[in-house]
Amino acid sequence: MRIAFLGLGIMGHAMARNLVKAGHEVKVWNRTPGKVVEGAVTASTPAEAAQNAEVVWMCVADTAAVENTLFGSNGVEASLRTGMIVVDSSTIAPAATARFAERVRVHGADYVDAPVTGSKTGAEAGSLIFIVGGEEATVDRLKPLFAAMGKKFCRMGSVSKGQAAKLVMNLQIAMIYEGFAEALVLANKLGIDAETLIPLIMISMVRSGVVEYKAPFILSRDFSPNFPLRLMYKDLQLASEAAAEAGVKLPGLDTMQEIYEMSVAEGLKDLDYAATISLLEKWAGAEVKPAATAETIKS
Ligand code: NAP
Repeated sequence: MRIAFLGLGIMGHAMARNLVKAGHEVKVWNRTPGKVVEGAVTASTPAEAAQNAEVVWMCVADTAAVENTLFGSNGVEASLRTGMIVVDSSTIAPAATARFAERVRVHGADYVDAPVTGSKTGAEAGSLIFIVGGEEATVDRLKPLFAAMGKKFCRMGSVSKGQAAKLVMNLQIAMIYEGFAEALVLANKLGIDAETLIPLIMISMVRSGVVEYKAPFILSRDFSPNFPLRLMYKDLQLASEAAAEAGVKLPGLDTMQEIYEMSVAEGLKDLDYAATISLLEKWAGAEVKPAATAETIKS
């Protein structure tokens, strides 16, 4: 298929590479020039990339970025035509998604929201999970592209339901991770090291994919961004806005937002969201490390 891929950040670059690998004809665009994907043509504007494309796929930072890419000067809108599908794999506001879809449809094109879960490693391995909102027939046409970049797609309903589901997924990830991080810091202060506690967690009902994925990064103190803290903070803000619109009170989410606000103030925003543990460590005056490292430091 002829695909325009817009946004070559951590996720987009790997996703576009996998489309090329699967044999699709790909044109790429990124706001800041200089990023390229081997085997793809580089366009200088979203409108140029989208010209003659069957599918326009976006993966940019946030709601404003999607709006700018679609409807800004030299945006996708100028190249929209009947039969084209616009797909958004960024995580953005469900309400804005519904508005963008309406404006895209005026031009005879269709719109699908397909935010992802699976992080940088999933994007690189082509094992993302797409959380999808859109017309069933349109979503069906995208199957070969989901297969090129991911291991599964789950349709949540009509347009914007993919974004809604993604926000409630990230709300859980942030809270599960926070519980894990608080447990590790308290355990450390009570004299139990992380390497002793984690195996217990993993054989009990407390185990989770989040713990399994993040534990090795904490133990090796590797907070390089797989999913940057600033993006998780953005998703918590989006979840909070959606909750306010729906008239739902979520006190845990309010606390999570405070934690992320303080983490940003600590200068952690460009690290992985796993770095929120360092805020707890600072307050506790302790650092969670493997026992061997702790011993080495003592001796
Ligand atoms: P990233 O590395 O920060 O990349 C963001 C991309 O958006 C860059 O290409 C950036 O262009 C572009 N951008 C920012 N503002 C823009 C604007 N106003 N107009 C046009 N383009 C703009 O982010 P990422 O990790 O790839 O994440 C992309 C999206 O996927 C986000 O919505 C994120 O929440 C979601 N997501 C990420 C992960 C993850 O693990 N990283 C997992 C699931 C979902 P420049 O190069 O010019 O800055």
